[in-house]
Amino acid sequence: MGLAPEWRLRGGAEPASVPLDSVGDAETLTDDVATGAQEPAGTPGSGDRDARILRMDWPELKQSVADCRSCGLCAKRTHTVFGVGDQKAQWLLVGEAPGAEEDARGEPFVGQAGRLLDNMLGSIGLKRGDNVYIANVLKCRPPGNRNPEAGEVAQCSPYLQRQIELIGPKLIMAMGRFAAQTLLDTDATIGSLRGRLHRYRGVPLVVTYHPAYLLRSLPEKAKAWEDLCFARRTMAGL
Ligand code: URA
Repeated sequence: MGLAPEWRLRGGAEPASVPLDSVGDAETLTDDVATGAQEPAGTPGSGDRDARILRMDWPELKQSVADCRSCGLCAKRTHTVFGVGDQKAQWLLVGEAPGAEEDARGEPFVGQAGRLLDNMLGSIGLKRGDNVYIANVLKCRPPGNRNPEAGEVAQCSPYLQRQIELIGPKLIMAMGRFAAQTLLDTDATIGSLRGRLHRYRGVPLVVTYHPAYLLRSLPEKAKAWEDLCFARRTMAGL
């Protein structure tokens, strides 16, 4: 028997209830330590590149990410990790950056954190790929799962911005500090951003903890559950 709670909807609306201890131990990615601001905008002179990316269609964008050599992360990657799911999804989930398994497979959230994410989605009646799109701020793995650097975030952000424009989600869930701070252009802590509705370029956005952080921090799972319920209620009212 595990220590973990189960993800369960209040009010009996749904049967979905997933034991969290089925997802294993924490991975090494660190999260939720506010260390300061990042640069959401591109570096000087990057305007042309950003503008080109922001005009791309899906095939061009995918190819551009696959070919990208705009920061040092390209040197050590096995695969770029573009994103996965329904290209017209109402739900968009945004994480931080690929880990080792994601880098090996070219798909976001396929490691332990991904299994937890799938359980979290299941608990509110959602499924990967079905009205859900999953992407990361960074498309390449930072070596050793270190934190993304500001320059890497700046180079990669136009890709995410274009993905969001093409998908046109009704709601974005920013998972973890880097996703939240990047999308909201803030250095506020995740604790202060949770529990209220934000907007990314007009799209409602809810902040929650990163699944990898939840794997290490049992007490925060209850808060993440509140965030999921908040997101679900918000979506129902949109
Ligand atoms: N953590 C992330 O933020 N993204 C992934 O794809 C995997 C782990």
